[in-house]
Amino acid sequence: MKRVLITGAAGFLGSHLCDRFIAEGYQVVGMDNLITGNLANIEHLFKLKEFEFYHHDVSKFVHVPGNIDYILHFASPASPIDYLKIPIQTLKVGSLGTHNLLGLAKAKKARILVASTSEVYGDPLVHPQNEDYWGNVNPIGPRGVYDEAKRFQEAITMAYHTYHGLETRIVRIFNTFGPRMRLDDGRALPAFMSQALKGEDITVFGDGSQTRSFCYVDDLVEGIYRLLLSDYAFPVNVGNPEEITLLEFAEEIQKLTNTSSKIVFEPLPKDDPKQRKPDITRAKEILNWEPRFTRSEGLKKTLEYFQNALK
Ligand code: NAD
Repeated sequence: MKRVLITGAAGFLGSHLCDRFIAEGYQVVGMDNLITGNLANIEHLFKLKEFEFYHHDVSKFVHVPGNIDYILHFASPASPIDYLKIPIQTLKVGSLGTHNLLGLAKAKKARILVASTSEVYGDPLVHPQNEDYWGNVNPIGPRGVYDEAKRFQEAITMAYHTYHGLETRIVRIFNTFGPRMRLDDGRALPAFMSQALKGEDITVFGDGSQTRSFCYVDDLVEGIYRLLLSDYAFPVNVGNPEEITLLEFAEEIQKLTNTSSKIVFEPLPKDDPKQRKPDITRAKEILNWEPRFTRSEGLKKTLEYFQNALK
């Protein structure tokens, strides 16, 4: 039985990855310090003998007894309200945490996949964003703590690949949504959906003309699974290229939830990207992957989760 270590296991994406690897017949070791995660996301796994959990901060030395075949490094605050509140921990987990896990991968002769992000493109001047674009990031702006941690993460991961010959994979994740997102994590979808379900005003930042491209979590997990098992070491965008303005997205959620909530506008946060859309040519060619769920199918599944969570 192959054994996989998943950091950030109690988070939104980490918990879905744990489910997927258990379903594929792996022994899964979850690790998390619960700084933004929630044990309820993986509670159902604790009874399984195929699942182990370590409550640990990966920015400190990481030790796991026994063999490990694969590591998926997903530990990191991911939403702007989180990383603005805990900027130093965010920088540490992307840098020291990644270094610790690369060291572990080398010691265990494991393959490691790191979770990077479309934020490495910053406020992009190229549209849609392909992997060869170097990005437009403000290193000292409020988002710099996250963006630069992830850019360092990519750099050190490539260095371990070229210098130590480590088997590495880098996924650049674009906005993803689905069940287990935290209701109060401040990202557009949880904010709009919770406000709509509670009958509160739906707050759109700026004039709502900025665009995003939202991918349903099951599609993302499939892309990551394929990338891990591929032999491709350079970054791969995984996301849904269907682009929408934030105002249209708020209206879509208004309609879906049948709410009486009104849309209101608030000032745009500093350095908020104006546009985001992945070019997924590489994922199509190398992984034979593209999203299967439409946004509206994904939103219906996510709505159910939010309705239950708000009961
Ligand atoms: P999340 O906050 O739900 O999950 C992150 C998990 O990491 C949490 O459980 C948290 O407690 C844990 N964690 C943070 N610092 C840690 C540390 N030092 N040691 C151990 N555990 C720690 O966020 P998410 O949306 O699931 O994001 C997971 C990963 O995917 C992150 O690396 C994020 O940068 C990346 N990503 C996510 C998205 C998205 O749309 N959700 C987009 C791009 C990249």
